[in-house]
Amino acid sequence: MISKTIRIRFAPSPTGYLHVGGLRTALYNYLFARQNKGVFILRIEDTDRTRYVEGAVENLINTLRWAGLDFDEGPKKGGSFGPYIQSERLDIYRKYAEQLVNDGKAYYCFCTSERLEKMRDDLEGTGAFAKYDKTCLKLSQSDIEKNLAVRSTYVIRMKVPENRIIKFHDLIREEVEIASDLIDDQVLIKSDGYPTYHLANVVDDHLMKVTHVIRGEEWLPSVPKHILLYEYFGWEIPKLAHLPLLLNADRSKLSKRQGDVAVEDYKAKGYLKEGLVNFVAFLGWNPGDEREIFSLDELVKEFSLERVGKAGAIFNIEKLNWINLQHIHQKTNEDLIPILKEILSNSKYKGLNLSDEYLANVIGAMRVRINYVSGILEKSSYFFEQPQSYDENVLKKHWRQETPNQLSKLIKEYSLLQNPTKEDYETALKKTAEQLGIGAGKLIHPTRLAVSGMGEGPGLYDILFTLGKEEVIKRIETAINKIKF
Ligand code: GLU
Repeated sequence: MISKTIRIRFAPSPTGYLHVGGLRTALYNYLFARQNKGVFILRIEDTDRTRYVEGAVENLINTLRWAGLDFDEGPKKGGSFGPYIQSERLDIYRKYAEQLVNDGKAYYCFCTSERLEKMRDDLEGTGAFAKYDKTCLKLSQSDIEKNLAVRSTYVIRMKVPENRIIKFHDLIREEVEIASDLIDDQVLIKSDGYPTYHLANVVDDHLMKVTHVIRGEEWLPSVPKHILLYEYFGWEIPKLAHLPLLLNADRSKLSKRQGDVAVEDYKAKGYLKEGLVNFVAFLGWNPGDEREIFSLDELVKEFSLERVGKAGAIFNIEKLNWINLQHIHQKTNEDLIPILKEILSNSKYKGLNLSDEYLANVIGAMRVRINYVSGILEKSSYFFEQPQSYDENVLKKHWRQETPNQLSKLIKEYSLLQNPTKEDYETALKKTAEQLGIGAGKLIHPTRLAVSGMGEGPGLYDILFTLGKEEVIKRIETAINKIKF
């Protein structure tokens, strides 16, 4: 027997950005598809028109591309099962919804939103689960026809049987049971003519021959509705795997309030795609040993759904920072230049025209002191502008009455240098200190303060070398003039 090609889909709703949880779902789907030599599909689930965001689909595709998660079928790419954007498939959903109506598995509902609201309020008052009361299920065929003729708005609801336990197997959650009494007669086609998530999702998974559905645990409660729909249509149910929730450090659901959740935000900060993908892979999965640093290709080899846990996965930013740093270590200064350039072009320094050589030196000086590339701007803005102020504590500690005169001597010494190397700056400073009969520290600290405004950072001579002789001299002169007792 020829075994079935594994077909996997990532089916995001385009909200305008890709949530890190969405990246995890996309990644696990991608890894599973690739390691099984299967097909990875991108399907856009945009049937909630109230959430429409201009440009969201392009943004999503670009972000997935950035992360290296190429899909085989999807919008713009094409494939034999398209279109891959649900809003372009409305006729298909209507056809299947009407088929269910004809088969007695779904029905038209003409209840107004006012009636539904009142019904819900009344039921909630009694403490009962607020389900639709099936009023329209009792309509006769002629009532239905009359209503259809005069009313333009209606929905189609699925019939949910009473007193049934719906059981299913999940590759991660194992055996799951949900009582049908807890399930509403779900709307399948909304009054705006669009399908709901449930109908569109089931129809598309079937028509696109999806074999495995891998998605977040928040979709688990929807499964019984989907199972009923598969049964009603007489279709095979794909294998299901629901991934553990993503949690903040305090175990609440991962939310914007406690930090960035958009992949785009991490990209903008200069996290490497390798670092973010590696970190996200560990949100629910681990290789079963001590290894923590993986490339995407290594993840394709190592990943397995069996090793995905049930327990919520904590989004630990320190861990992300550490993993990202390990990936930074694997890059050359030159590799990081395009990332730094992009960050600069989105910052107040966008007008600066800095050479690649200059940027490579900045990266070389800062790379062990950052966790993500924009850390360079946060921690060492002095590479891009003169210090705006001087650290008070360093001033108090290291700037003395005699400092300006001593620095003037240093300036003289530095101005004699021709194309100085790091070592030349060092030798000249030590020589000046000797001539002045003071320890080198008496010059080192004030010089650092003058050129950077701070008391800490990379080696002083790295800073001086990177800034260049003219800039160094200018900054020391400025400090001498600005800092008064
Ligand atoms: N459109 C759903 C989402 O936004 C997809 C859930 C699923 O994969 O079935 O996550």
